[in-house]
Amino acid sequence: MKIAYQYKLLPTYEQRCQMTRWLDMLRAQYNWLLGERFDWWEMNRCAVNACPLTCSIALPKERPDYYAQKRSLSPMKKVRPWYKELPCHTLQEVAKRVDLAFSRFIQGDSSGKRSGKPRFKGKGRYRTMLFTQLRSEHISSNRITLPKLGKVKFIRHRPMPAGFALKRALVTLKADGWYVSLTLEDKRVPDTPIVDVEPTEANSIGIDAGLEYFVAGSDGSGEPLPKFYRQAETKLGRLQAKREHRPKGSKGRRKLNERIAKLHQKVARQRQQWHYEVAGRLLDKADVVFVEDLRVSNMARKNKPKQAEDGAYLPNGQAAKSGLNKSFADAGIAGFLTNILPYKAAKAGKRVVEVSPAGTSQHCASCLSRVPKGLSDRWHDCPHCGFSCQRDINSGILIKQVGLGIASLKNAKSRANRDGEARALCLA
Ligand SMILES: [Zn+2]
Repeated sequence: MKIAYQYKLLPTYEQRCQMTRWLDMLRAQYNWLLGERFDWWEMNRCAVNACPLTCSIALPKERPDYYAQKRSLSPMKKVRPWYKELPCHTLQEVAKRVDLAFSRFIQGDSSGKRSGKPRFKGKGRYRTMLFTQLRSEHISSNRITLPKLGKVKFIRHRPMPAGFALKRALVTLKADGWYVSLTLEDKRVPDTPIVDVEPTEANSIGIDAGLEYFVAGSDGSGEPLPKFYRQAETKLGRLQAKREHRPKGSKGRRKLNERIAKLHQKVARQRQQWHYEVAGRLLDKADVVFVEDLRVSNMARKNKPKQAEDGAYLPNGQAAKSGLNKSFADAGIAGFLTNILPYKAAKAGKRVVEVSPAGTSQHCASCLSRVPKGLSDRWHDCPHCGFSCQRDINSGILIKQVGLGIASLKNAKSRANRDGEARALCLA
């Protein structure tokens, strides 16, 4: 099993200068390799006999794939001898990064989803470098030995786990300094530990991501929605307005940029810390957590535009949904449900089970009859059986029931259809 531990580095002034210079050299190399790819692609897109007349005829050239680019590094070092200063694996990793960015652009990832065109990286946009072939001996008390850099001090705020071997180190320049992320591996621990917990009524909990609550549990508990970004917004706005008055390239502007970056970092850290705490509290309560499958629901998607017969645009509820999306993004619910909760659960020997959320917000948890609700209806009141509770808690109970196989909402419509229907009802 591989795990990553992050520590803050305390490099000396010389080491800081050297690492900054390296990052800049790696950035130049990245841009060069990416440019090579674009050039080849531009010139060889069509077959030779199908070239348009105005197209420049390219010299027959080897296609710059990963291996060709990797091979080109050693002749490059002869022309640009200052690149000898870099550890060779760190330099090779750049070629890998270019390869990944480019193949995601051309072919897409494993699920066929294509990314945007890779961009050339401007100053300060290349912030990480990789050191491989490290061994556990490279760490002694609070010093790590990095190739061609020597011993670098770090804050050992937590002990290294016993039995894990050091594999590689990723050094990153963040808003408040340098960090190292160590990849540690223990081959004796399996990658995906088999957790064999059968969900029962007593040991499971269903949670629904909502608006009143970040997550509402089927046991009636709710975690309040965090507003870290919204809290920082005023301060951020003030700093950004101040920055506009400083001329570009000035020292004042640079200082303000640093302060803005640190504020963003603070918000991200507050959120992450809080996610871990919520996950801990949930897993204390149950062995199996049922969550909604985010691939099925489309929480943060845009509403379709609506047009009248004369072509004018009608209100489609996007304004309300934009505020909603902002709240969702501030809460970071997707990252919580797909990364942090499963990670914490696996560590605790517990399970997170994804359940199709179709129908869970529009049905009654007590009698399963359909109770349509719009986005603004925050309370669930069942006219059929009289069951009444907070809307998200009702969904949490239903998610648990669907997960346990007690309730089946097979005929429930997808969220998209439902939203359309609900809007039609509101407008009628
Ligand atoms: Zn009911």
